Amino acid sequence: MSISAKHLKANKVKYITKLEQVPQLSSTERENLQKVNDKFVFRSNEYYNSLIDWEDPKDPIRRIVIPEVQELDDWGQLDASNEERYTPVKGLEHKYSSTALLLVNEVCAAYCRFCFRKRLFMDDNDEVTKDVSEGIQYIREHREISNVLLTGGDPLIMSTSKLAPIIEKIRQIDHVQIIRIGTKIPAFNPFRIIEDPSLLETIQKYSTDEKKIYIMAHFNHPRELTPEAIKGLNLLMRAGAVVVNQTPLIQGVNDDPDVLSKLFNKLSYIGVPPYYVFLCRPTLGNEPYAIPVEKGYQIFENARKKCSGLAKRARLVMSHETGKVEVLAVTRDRIFMKYLRAAHPENGTRFIEFPRNPDAFWLDDYTDPSHLGDEEHPYDNAACGGNGSLPANGN
Ligand code: SF4
Repeated sequence: MSISAKHLKANKVKYITKLEQVPQLSSTERENLQKVNDKFVFRSNEYYNSLIDWEDPKDPIRRIVIPEVQELDDWGQLDASNEERYTPVKGLEHKYSSTALLLVNEVCAAYCRFCFRKRLFMDDNDEVTKDVSEGIQYIREHREISNVLLTGGDPLIMSTSKLAPIIEKIRQIDHVQIIRIGTKIPAFNPFRIIEDPSLLETIQKYSTDEKKIYIMAHFNHPRELTPEAIKGLNLLMRAGAVVVNQTPLIQGVNDDPDVLSKLFNKLSYIGVPPYYVFLCRPTLGNEPYAIPVEKGYQIFENARKKCSGLAKRARLVMSHETGKVEVLAVTRDRIFMKYLRAAHPENGTRFIEFPRNPDAFWLDDYTDPSHLGDEEHPYDNAACGGNGSLPANGN
């Protein structure tokens, strides 16, 4: 059961950064998990921990924030999609021509164990800068940028007094139409929204009739949709934001069609369309959370069978170094995919197909990795399915 709003109003949500602050863990568990914490930092908060069923060692909410020793297994890379390659100035990523990502901070209200940006939370990381003026100048100078995603970390962990001037400066740039805020605050700490009228005023001011602010929410499991979370989502929508949800498919959290369909349906009842479902990037430490591509496709499709049209709007994608690739279909022998966004215009909306590989976790597992990420034509080679390529259209 979640902590009541009344309780938290008086006490505020306390952040938890040490395993000793989690009394529900045994001393042996804490000792074992400390080694993980030394490598991949732990952070949660008392509201989110109150959603965990501590009687169940496999509780899905627990798996989202409490470390697992298997994270120490050698698997994956820290920057699995090579985000660094698309970082022209510090704190700004520009991979798709119309979209820029501004990394505004490096803290979240809790840390998801499966985070693909966990490198940002490490002490020696310097990819994020507190001064985003260089990034904003870059956006000003690139008229092709119509979408700006504020991300990090979590932009809503910042005080509104720090966040509002960033939104204001971006809104002053004529060619920027949509401002997106990527955030798990509605799930991790909805009181951040409920108790700060100035945040809602900021959204009201800068989400205009013609140019909206989109909240890219991050609910992984239907149990995160507590009355407080639903209240937070409704406040954001009433303030004029468009809210959508995206989630990775996570082993032990939502890799069950019943759970995933419940999440999709419940979101649709609230008025929050499911947008993307991501296959976990092969990020260092994420083996215990990743799902193979073809198994993920089956879970995703079986979940969609239990959904209304409004609830089944999500797309199953991989955020690969070369672009956002949607998994379209799997037959007995083949898997079919398509680029939704491509780093190189040549890939446009290219359709690709491969022989099936049930052990594949990532696009690279379907083809020789040396063929990926080529500067000119990443998929113009024999490794691609040859009978479906569409003409590039620059999307
Ligand atoms: S909220 Fe997003 S950025 Fe923060 S830890 Fe979770 S996945 Fe990573």
